[in-house]
Amino acid sequence: MEMRHKQTSGMYESRFALVRATTLEDVVNARASHPDSRLLGGGTDLVVNIRRGIVAPPVLVDINHVEEMRAIRADARILEIGAAVKLAELDVHEGVRRHYPVVAQAAGCIAGPTHRRQSVSRHALPLL
Ligand SMILES: Cc1cc2nc3c(=O)[nH]c(=O)nc-3n(C[C@H](O)[C@H](O)[C@H](O)COP(=O)(O)OP(=O)(O)OC[C@H]3O[C@@H](n4cnc5c(N)ncnc54)[C@H](O)[C@@H]3O)c2cc1C
Repeated sequence: MEMRHKQTSGMYESRFALVRATTLEDVVNARASHPDSRLLGGGTDLVVNIRRGIVAPPVLVDINHVEEMRAIRADARILEIGAAVKLAELDVHEGVRRHYPVVAQAAGCIAGPTHRRQSVSRHALPLL
Protein backbone atom coordinates (compact mmCIF):
# COMPACT_ATOMS: atom_id res chain seq x y z
CA MET A 1 0.00 0.00 0.00
CA GLU A 2 1.39 3.42 -0.89
CA MET A 3 0.40 6.55 0.98
CA ARG A 4 1.10 10.17 0.29
CA HIS A 5 1.07 13.23 2.51
CA LYS A 6 0.97 16.67 1.00
CA GLN A 7 0.49 19.99 2.74
CA THR A 8 -1.28 22.63 0.66
CA SER A 9 1.31 25.29 1.53
CA GLY A 10 3.86 23.01 -0.14
CA MET A 11 6.09 22.86 2.95
CA TYR A 12 6.49 19.13 2.62
CA GLU A 13 5.57 16.18 0.56
CA SER A 14 6.10 12.69 1.88
CA ARG A 15 5.39 9.40 0.23
CA PHE A 16 5.81 6.06 1.91
CA ALA A 17 4.80 2.47 1.49
CA LEU A 18 2.90 0.81 4.32
CA VAL A 19 3.58 -2.83 5.14
CA ARG A 20 0.91 -4.31 7.39
CA ALA A 21 2.65 -7.12 9.27
CA THR A 22 0.57 -9.86 10.86
CA THR A 23 3.38 -12.12 12.11
CA LEU A 24 6.80 -11.55 13.66
CA GLU A 25 8.26 -13.14 10.54
CA ASP A 26 6.57 -10.44 8.43
CA VAL A 27 8.20 -7.77 10.61
CA VAL A 28 11.66 -9.33 10.37
CA ASN A 29 11.35 -9.82 6.60
CA ALA A 30 10.09 -6.28 6.04
CA ARG A 31 12.92 -4.81 8.11
CA ALA A 32 15.47 -6.95 6.26
CA SER A 33 14.06 -5.95 2.86
CA HIS A 34 13.76 -2.26 3.80
CA PRO A 35 16.59 -1.26 6.14
CA ASP A 36 15.41 2.39 6.07
CA SER A 37 11.93 1.43 7.23
CA ARG A 38 10.44 2.47 10.60
CA LEU A 39 8.12 0.49 12.80
CA LEU A 40 4.69 2.06 13.19
CA GLY A 41 3.10 1.78 16.63
CA GLY A 42 0.37 4.28 17.42
CA GLY A 43 1.90 6.85 15.08
CA THR A 44 1.40 9.66 17.62
CA ASP A 45 5.07 10.57 17.34
CA LEU A 46 6.14 9.15 13.98
CA VAL A 47 3.22 10.35 11.86
CA VAL A 48 3.44 13.84 13.39
CA ASN A 49 7.14 13.96 12.54
CA ILE A 50 6.45 12.77 8.98
CA ARG A 51 3.79 15.46 8.56
CA ARG A 52 6.22 18.09 9.81
CA GLY A 53 8.88 16.89 7.39
CA ILE A 54 11.25 15.97 10.24
CA VAL A 55 11.63 12.38 9.04
CA ALA A 56 10.77 10.74 5.72
CA PRO A 57 11.01 6.96 6.00
CA PRO A 58 10.27 5.29 2.63
CA VAL A 59 8.50 2.36 4.30
CA LEU A 60 6.45 2.04 7.50
CA VAL A 61 5.98 -1.41 9.01
CA ASP A 62 2.68 -1.48 10.91
CA ILE A 63 3.08 -3.79 13.94
CA ASN A 64 -0.42 -3.30 15.34
CA HIS A 65 -1.79 -6.53 13.91
CA VAL A 66 1.01 -8.83 15.04
CA GLU A 67 -0.61 -11.06 17.66
CA GLU A 68 2.71 -12.08 19.27
CA MET A 69 3.46 -8.40 19.92
CA ARG A 70 0.00 -7.72 21.35
CA ALA A 71 0.20 -10.33 24.11
CA ILE A 72 0.30 -9.64 27.86
CA ARG A 73 1.33 -12.29 30.39
CA ALA A 74 0.99 -11.35 34.01
CA ASP A 75 1.11 -13.81 36.87
CA ALA A 76 2.76 -13.91 40.27
CA ARG A 77 6.15 -14.70 38.72
CA ILE A 78 6.28 -13.03 35.33
CA LEU A 79 5.17 -9.84 33.65
CA GLU A 80 5.53 -9.86 29.88
CA ILE A 81 4.21 -6.98 27.79
CA GLY A 82 4.32 -7.21 24.01
CA ALA A 83 5.97 -4.31 22.22
CA ALA A 84 2.68 -3.38 20.48
CA VAL A 85 0.44 -3.50 23.57
CA LYS A 86 -1.47 -0.24 23.97
CA LEU A 87 -1.24 1.64 27.25
CA ALA A 88 -5.02 1.46 27.58
CA GLU A 89 -4.88 -2.35 27.49
CA LEU A 90 -2.51 -2.50 30.45
CA ASP A 91 -4.52 -0.71 33.10
CA VAL A 92 -7.59 -2.89 32.49
CA HIS A 93 -5.74 -6.22 32.28
CA GLU A 94 -6.86 -8.43 35.15
CA GLY A 95 -3.46 -10.09 35.75
CA VAL A 96 -1.58 -6.79 35.62
CA ARG A 97 -4.05 -5.15 38.01
CA ARG A 98 -3.83 -8.07 40.42
CA HIS A 99 -0.09 -8.80 40.45
CA TYR A 100 1.44 -5.49 39.31
CA PRO A 101 -1.01 -2.80 40.47
CA VAL A 102 1.62 -0.06 40.26
CA VAL A 103 2.13 -0.78 36.56
CA ALA A 104 -1.63 -0.76 35.95
CA GLN A 105 -2.07 2.49 37.85
CA ALA A 106 0.85 4.14 36.08
CA ALA A 107 -0.40 3.05 32.64
CA GLY A 108 -3.74 4.68 33.45
CA CYS A 109 -2.08 7.97 34.40
CA ILE A 110 0.09 8.57 31.34
CA ALA A 111 -1.20 11.17 28.87
CA GLY A 112 -4.89 11.44 27.95
CA PRO A 113 -7.36 8.68 27.00
CA THR A 114 -6.83 9.13 23.25
CA HIS A 115 -3.06 8.75 23.55
CA ARG A 116 -3.44 5.77 25.86
CA ARG A 117 -5.62 3.99 23.31
CA GLN A 118 -3.20 4.78 20.49
CA SER A 119 0.33 4.67 21.90
CA VAL A 120 2.20 1.46 22.44
CA SER A 121 3.40 0.92 26.00
CA ARG A 122 6.95 0.26 24.83
CA HIS A 123 7.58 4.03 24.72
CA ALA A 124 5.92 5.20 27.87
CA LEU A 125 6.65 2.48 30.45
CA PRO A 126 10.41 3.13 30.60
CA LEU A 127 9.53 6.65 31.78
CA LEU A 128 7.81 5.35 34.91
C1 LIG B 1 -0.08 15.99 21.51
C2 LIG B 1 1.06 15.06 21.85
C3 LIG B 1 1.53 15.01 23.14
C4 LIG B 1 2.58 14.16 23.48
N1 LIG B 1 3.00 14.14 24.77
C5 LIG B 1 4.02 13.34 25.12
C6 LIG B 1 4.48 13.31 26.47
O1 LIG B 1 3.95 14.01 27.34
N2 LIG B 1 5.52 12.50 26.78
C7 LIG B 1 6.11 11.73 25.85
O2 LIG B 1 7.04 10.98 26.18
N3 LIG B 1 5.69 11.73 24.55
C8 LIG B 1 4.68 12.52 24.18
N4 LIG B 1 4.26 12.54 22.87
C9 LIG B 1 4.97 11.73 21.90
C10 LIG B 1 4.29 10.37 21.62
O3 LIG B 1 2.91 10.43 21.69
C11 LIG B 1 4.78 9.30 22.60
O4 LIG B 1 6.19 9.24 22.54
C12 LIG B 1 4.16 7.93 22.31
O5 LIG B 1 4.45 7.09 23.42
C13 LIG B 1 4.64 7.32 21.03
O6 LIG B 1 4.03 6.05 20.90
P1 LIG B 1 3.47 5.52 19.51
O7 LIG B 1 3.07 4.10 19.72
O8 LIG B 1 2.43 6.42 18.94
O9 LIG B 1 4.82 5.55 18.62
P2 LIG B 1 5.01 5.83 17.06
O10 LIG B 1 4.73 7.27 16.76
O11 LIG B 1 4.30 4.81 16.24
O12 LIG B 1 6.59 5.53 16.96
C14 LIG B 1 7.55 6.37 17.60
C15 LIG B 1 8.97 5.81 17.29
O13 LIG B 1 9.14 4.50 17.89
C16 LIG B 1 9.42 3.51 16.87
N5 LIG B 1 8.69 2.29 17.29
C17 LIG B 1 7.34 2.11 17.38
N6 LIG B 1 7.05 0.90 17.86
C18 LIG B 1 8.26 0.28 18.07
C19 LIG B 1 8.64 -1.01 18.57
N7 LIG B 1 7.73 -1.92 18.95
N8 LIG B 1 9.95 -1.30 18.65
C20 LIG B 1 10.88 -0.40 18.27
N9 LIG B 1 10.59 0.84 17.80
C21 LIG B 1 9.30 1.18 17.70
C22 LIG B 1 8.90 4.12 15.58
O14 LIG B 1 9.55 3.58 14.45
C23 LIG B 1 9.22 5.58 15.78
O15 LIG B 1 10.57 5.85 15.53
C24 LIG B 1 3.21 13.35 22.51
C25 LIG B 1 2.72 13.41 21.19
C26 LIG B 1 1.67 14.24 20.85
C27 LIG B 1 1.17 14.27 19.43
